[in-house]
Amino acid sequence: MALRFAHDTLGQRLLFGSGLAARHVADEVARLGASRIMLIAAVFEQEIAEVVTANITLTVTYNDVVQHVPIAKAEDARRVAAENTIDLLISVGGGSTTGLAKAIALTTGIPIIAVATTYAGSEATNVWGLTEEARKTTGVDARVLPVTVVYDPELTYSLPVELSVASGMNALAHCVDSMWAPRADPINQALAAEGIRALAAGLPLVAQNPTDEKGREQALYGAYLSAVAFASAGSGMHHKICHVLGGTYNLPHAQTHATVLPYVLAFNAPFAPDADARIAGAFGATSGLEGLNELRRVLDAPRALKDYGFTEANIPEAVSIVLPLIPADNPRPATTENLTELLHAAWAGSTPQAH
Ligand code: NAD
Repeated sequence: MALRFAHDTLGQRLLFGSGLAARHVADEVARLGASRIMLIAAVFEQEIAEVVTANITLTVTYNDVVQHVPIAKAEDARRVAAENTIDLLISVGGGSTTGLAKAIALTTGIPIIAVATTYAGSEATNVWGLTEEARKTTGVDARVLPVTVVYDPELTYSLPVELSVASGMNALAHCVDSMWAPRADPINQALAAEGIRALAAGLPLVAQNPTDEKGREQALYGAYLSAVAFASAGSGMHHKICHVLGGTYNLPHAQTHATVLPYVLAFNAPFAPDADARIAGAFGATSGLEGLNELRRVLDAPRALKDYGFTEANIPEAVSIVLPLIPADNPRPATTENLTELLHAAWAGSTPQAH
């Protein structure tokens, strides 16, 4: 088949290296010529942030980070940035922390250096998210893409195994969904395939030993690839489902992605044989689902939405919100019936079946 596609590559600098975060951040602050810096880090991330910012002077530190960025929290952080005439934001933490920095950048255009400490990948995308009255709104804006990302695998040593696994599966979901998302193309699919390979190689090492340098390096490298692929390919069915579940029922982000992913793969794979072959190849398995299920077994990955606060009674409402959001060109057309079946299986944690 003829290759015809349009592909945008987002402009961003990535500095990667174990034990190098503080040096990389100081170099970037100097390169950007910033003088009034706002550090954003959740209370739990403060210790890591102190290491990362050891070589620079901060104007203000902001710790009031809440998952899914409630609009009131975003407005408060914007006020603090304005009152302190901030010219650079440095976020140190997971996707929630990066998300708050993005919320400030969205209305102010202040550049961000993102030091990421999970595998959520928000730092590599131009997507922002805000939550108001239990509805999550997302959008795309060039101003929220961090100018620089700093990855230091050592900063992830403290991420508990359970959260590392869930977050790693979140990254894997970016890769899998990129195979059939609305702007999937050969370039983002290639990034996604390499992302799957790296995550599948790194995460089992992390699960065995959270301070395994090679495992942490591969997982973080894979997470970046996954996020770059996702930023380029856009949100497919999997992300549409998870954003509704996270925003409406306040479910934990990474665990929700980890739980839903095999059901979406089982749902779409028979209708997307090329994508499935690509995913299978990256896992070194005979099918995508076989590769994913084996990795989930090795990692003891999250299994059921009912373990994370989603109830059976929530399913009809969730289906009605999700259904209109599923991309029209999803490999398998979604209906109320098949989406209900998918969410019911994910709620119960029953074995994902491709059919
Ligand atoms: P999170 O940022 O909420 O972090 C989870 C927990 O881990 C927090 O308590 C945090 O303090 C802690 N933590 C983070 N790094 C740690 C470390 N190295 N050691 C110990 N503890 C650590 O969760 P997340 O999964 O990273 O991010 C989820 C959020 O990111 C969601 O709101 C999601 O919507 C958003 N997100 C956005 C995009 C995007 O493109 N805009 C992409 C992915 C995720």
